[in-house]
Amino acid sequence: MESFGHVIAGEEVVSAEPAEFESVDPWTREPWATVALGSAGDAERAVRAARSAFDEGPWPRMSFAERRAILHRLADLLEKHVGELSAADTADMGKPITQTAGHDVPRAAQNFRFFADHAQLTPAETFPMPAGHHAYTQYDPAGVVAAIAPWNFPLMMASWKVAPALAWGNTVVLKPAEQSPASATILARLAIEAGLPPGTLNVVHGFGPDSVGQALTESPLVDRITFTGESTTGRLISRAAAANLTPVSLELGGKGANIVFADADLDQAVGWSIQAVFSNSGQVCLAGSRLYVQRAVYDEFLARFTAAADALVLGDPKDPATQIGPLSSREHFTKVAGYLDIATAAGARLHTGGVDEGWVVRPTVVVGAGQRDRVTQEEIFGPVVVVLPFDDEADAVAAANDTPYGLNAMLFTQDLSRAHRVARALRVGTVWANCFFIRDLRAPFGGAKNSGVGREGGTYSREFFTEPKAVIMEI
Ligand code: NAD
Repeated sequence: MESFGHVIAGEEVVSAEPAEFESVDPWTREPWATVALGSAGDAERAVRAARSAFDEGPWPRMSFAERRAILHRLADLLEKHVGELSAADTADMGKPITQTAGHDVPRAAQNFRFFADHAQLTPAETFPMPAGHHAYTQYDPAGVVAAIAPWNFPLMMASWKVAPALAWGNTVVLKPAEQSPASATILARLAIEAGLPPGTLNVVHGFGPDSVGQALTESPLVDRITFTGESTTGRLISRAAAANLTPVSLELGGKGANIVFADADLDQAVGWSIQAVFSNSGQVCLAGSRLYVQRAVYDEFLARFTAAADALVLGDPKDPATQIGPLSSREHFTKVAGYLDIATAAGARLHTGGVDEGWVVRPTVVVGAGQRDRVTQEEIFGPVVVVLPFDDEADAVAAANDTPYGLNAMLFTQDLSRAHRVARALRVGTVWANCFFIRDLRAPFGGAKNSGVGREGGTYSREFFTEPKAVIMEI
């Protein structure tokens, strides 16, 4: 079995009071690694290391160019170690290896390069004032950043937080999810190799409540908390952060609407809609898990969509031919499978799909559900889509907005005016028209309503990870 420690002050270490937990491969359902199990004391140790690296270390005092060179070196190392990193995420949470190796690891490297370049190249504002003064903005690093990550894109989500925090001169304590700890330790090992000064990026493993996660959110030595995870956890973290008035960025759950109008290019709509809800076994915050189809094309769309769902290749996520792996854990499998019973008990029907052997749920299409049913309203976070017909544009917008979440939505139409009109009417953080998951890292990313607080990406990340200071001078 492999073994993964915390990384604190530039050293890979065990817990202060030695304890470990096992990471279970959800395909074999056997442990594949042992991981240091941190306590509140280990979180404190990591925060102190980050604090002294910030207060006394070289990182916040380096030029953008120096930091950029190190972060680019780290990106190169991530690419060089793509085999090890993708195998770790796949063993931890069951995502097909083609996705971890072909998408997640390259995107993590891209995050480091993008935010390093962005920090160096982005100008700050000056404000010429007519009466003998001028003002400008200085973006000082905020300090110690606690980054708490989920398990569904382990390395990629961690890098989405760590890269901008480091690029803007902060020091970081990263707590990966307990279901997917391995790639965070590998990232921190590679950061040392890339030349990051000790204490600049620390990793501490453990659980959330009454453990490492909670301790990080309650620490008065932490200056920013960036969290991605469930909306219920986001509420707890907000509450903990309020005690110290620590700013928080929350990227939370979703229940994405995917609207297919009768004038859509159906080949395009079917292809993207399949990806939107079944990639990563639907364990995606942005999943298009509510599919609204205009009545005139409902039957044809449903037939083509179902055929494409049935054609997805299920199996061992380590096999490059596999498109759908298991769910990430026994607990999560039980939750997702439970929603199939909730759907049918409320009168809906499984048009295709259902549970399989192990912790596998086949791509599942639910029809006949009501708009207010739990299966339509709650985040299932599995390969389960609810398909509902609609009559006109107003119906589609009303149904899409009728959820506590507001992370994202997709729409498919050939009518350009309608695409803009509907995009404007949707209460979400991101709208994809005639596509899905395409990102420009300069664009704002985050959610409305229960899907989050704040935005990250480009200058939005700068806003959060710095303390913007106005300097006004008499001239
Ligand atoms: P989770 O909320 O259970 O856990 C996320 C992280 O928070 C883990 O590291 C966990 O240990 C930690 N944690 C749990 N309780 C805590 C507490 N009280 N204090 C501090 N830390 C605590 O979420 P998850 O199951 O790992 O991830 C799935 C969720 O994440 C889904 O709801 C999904 O939609 C959401 N998500 C959102 C985005 C986005 O960008 N909006 C992206 C990916 C995932």
